[in-house]
Amino acid sequence: MIVLAVESSAHTFGIGIFDGKNKKIVANARDVFSTEQGGMIPTKVAEHHIAVKEKVLAQALKEADLEMKDISLISYTQGPGLAPALLVGRDFAVALAEEHKIKLLGVNHIAAHLEIGLFCTKAKDPIFLFCSGANTQVIVHEDKYRIFGEALSIAVGNALDKFAREIGLGFPGGPKVEALAKKGKYVALPYSVKGMDVDFSGIVTRAVQLYKKGVAKEDLCFSLQETCFAMLIEVTERALAHCEKKEVLLIGGVAANKRFAEMLDAMCSQRGAKAYIVPLMYAGDQGAMIAYQGWLERKREQKEFDINPKWRVDEVSTFWK
Ligand code: AMP
Ligand code: MG
Repeated sequence: MIVLAVESSAHTFGIGIFDGKNKKIVANARDVFSTEQGGMIPTKVAEHHIAVKEKVLAQALKEADLEMKDISLISYTQGPGLAPALLVGRDFAVALAEEHKIKLLGVNHIAAHLEIGLFCTKAKDPIFLFCSGANTQVIVHEDKYRIFGEALSIAVGNALDKFAREIGLGFPGGPKVEALAKKGKYVALPYSVKGMDVDFSGIVTRAVQLYKKGVAKEDLCFSLQETCFAMLIEVTERALAHCEKKEVLLIGGVAANKRFAEMLDAMCSQRGAKAYIVPLMYAGDQGAMIAYQGWLERKREQKEFDINPKWRVDEVSTFWK
């Protein structure tokens, strides 16, 4: 069975193709909305997705050396995400499914991030540390995915993006903050862990204030990373102890950050646990993970093709496990 998928929940418009017979990702084409200055405006993102959708589809089919007639299932991101962006992907998936008479399934974007992490690494039963642009959650699979801790206001990716935007670095901010942090030294920022939850909004506010007072952006980038990542590692360590697990799997776009991986590795080796990091090309949003998730759920039937912008991963039935 070959699954083609549409991802459109945020900045990325992606088409992925998964070959179920050979258990292989055969295409992962994408086009990412970005800006030189300013952040991500949902309607602008939707316009971007509309402009690139046909091109990205053609690119994916070419990459896999396949045609639409070879596809036996289409999956799309039903949520969570930005409604205008989700709608573009949903409409495109529905149109393709109707035109080519292919079965269609809407899947949960976060479950797809978690499952592609398992698919790409040797992790078996980890604490998932999910850090993307819009979500930050510490997740464990029991009878379903359970959220042990999360960011109370903004996600860690969003915190980095917001700080970057405020100091004029453009979007996405994470990689720009990482590059500047290499030349920075530590200045104190608020550290905010509440039980198993973390709160990043105060840190960003303080970092922006310090920037306006003349503190070097390199130092602020370095300190923002050190503080945010230390908070996340603290709650992850507690989740490891509480759940008696021996593995952590870092996923989501922020998993691309080398310093984060290094800090996680250090904590895990001190505890005799193993840190897995999702490979870079599957860290951020992409269509391959939606295709793989569609394949996992291939036995399910779906009649209504909604979008669900606020769909939490702990509301998903993990019947495929
Ligand atoms: P996602 O929503 O999973 O696609 O992840 C996107 C988020 O990852 C954005 O907030 C980016 O700023 C962030 N990101 C991407 N690369 C890096 C990096 N090298 N360091 C930190 N954050 C990053
Ligand atoms: Mg994502």
